[in-house]
Amino acid sequence: MAGAFKLISIKGIRLFVHWTFLFLVGWVVLVNARLGNNIEQLAWSVLFIVAVFACVALHEFGHALVASRFGIQAKNIILLPIGGIASIEKFPGNPKQELAISIAGPMVNFAIAGILALFLHPFMFLWETPPDVSITHGHDFLYNLYAVNIGLAAFNLIPAFPLDGGRILRALLGFKLNYIRATTIVATLGKIIAGLFIVAGLVFFNLVLLVIGIFIIFSASAEEHYLRLKALVQGIKIKDIQMYDYNSLESKTTVKEAASVLMNNHSKYFIVMDGPHPIGSINRIEIIKAIAEMKYEIAVGDLLRKGLSYLDGEKEADTVLEKLAASDERLYPVMENGLFTGVINFNQIIEYLLIHKAETKEYGRIKSLTGLL
Ligand code: ZN
Repeated sequence: MAGAFKLISIKGIRLFVHWTFLFLVGWVVLVNARLGNNIEQLAWSVLFIVAVFACVALHEFGHALVASRFGIQAKNIILLPIGGIASIEKFPGNPKQELAISIAGPMVNFAIAGILALFLHPFMFLWETPPDVSITHGHDFLYNLYAVNIGLAAFNLIPAFPLDGGRILRALLGFKLNYIRATTIVATLGKIIAGLFIVAGLVFFNLVLLVIGIFIIFSASAEEHYLRLKALVQGIKIKDIQMYDYNSLESKTTVKEAASVLMNNHSKYFIVMDGPHPIGSINRIEIIKAIAEMKYEIAVGDLLRKGLSYLDGEKEADTVLEKLAASDERLYPVMENGLFTGVINFNQIIEYLLIHKAETKEYGRIKSLTGLL
């Protein structure tokens, strides 16, 4: 992710912090300055923000480490000012595993709260007010951290996508119902809960409740759409969807030479070839950008983003849906038994579905899932 800096790496899972995190620290400094707090007070407050995000990171590591036990790789955890995100490759579609992965995060926060509780006065919660994270003192540091961990666990257990509670509920329903049905139920419930948050936000003039409600409404339908689509492409192989017409550029081609190709060609993407082997694809905008930056003599192959690979034609399309959905039109080379056979992008999958399901009742649903038609 652009603008994120790597902190540490544990068992191949890399922890990043996004630079906008500095805004949060800046905000804490401002709040303390406005209240006329001294340096010691300020240091406690900043330390507290760091401690809270350490707990958020541990929550995400909880998900990631359990996922890796099931052979599902989580490569990155990114800490943003609004919280953490573990980019887990895919969710298993197996209720037992999904339950274990989803519940691991909140459990980490409960465990931290439990450990902190050992150091707290048993009746402390009677006189301490709920924490204001921006002005934590030395004396209430542990209590506030305890309260924040309980809050984090409780918030994440709200049964609505994309929160952990939504996935937990879907997994529980998944033991009895099929996955799509379970997803629909949770998505609908999520919308009702979001509605309650929005109403409460308006009635109590509470911006936080309002924002949570709006966030849940958008995420719930996105998750539902994505899962429906995923179910529709299950069992269809990439090689059955691939296209055969594409334009290519040799990786040694310079930006200057590529510029003249662009003049006579309207392709949005070009497959970059190293001899007979595709090494990736490039967007025409990326070439135009290189022209604007006067990188005329740079080879097209050097402009490629690293890590862009080909797809295995024998694989099922639902396994790469997420990767392709990240950019509707980006072309990916398809290989079968070591041979370059064609290309695929997200829009092609949608088109394939529309054509093949044209006479079924799924057609309307697919159409509603996309902005293609
Ligand atoms: Zn979580």
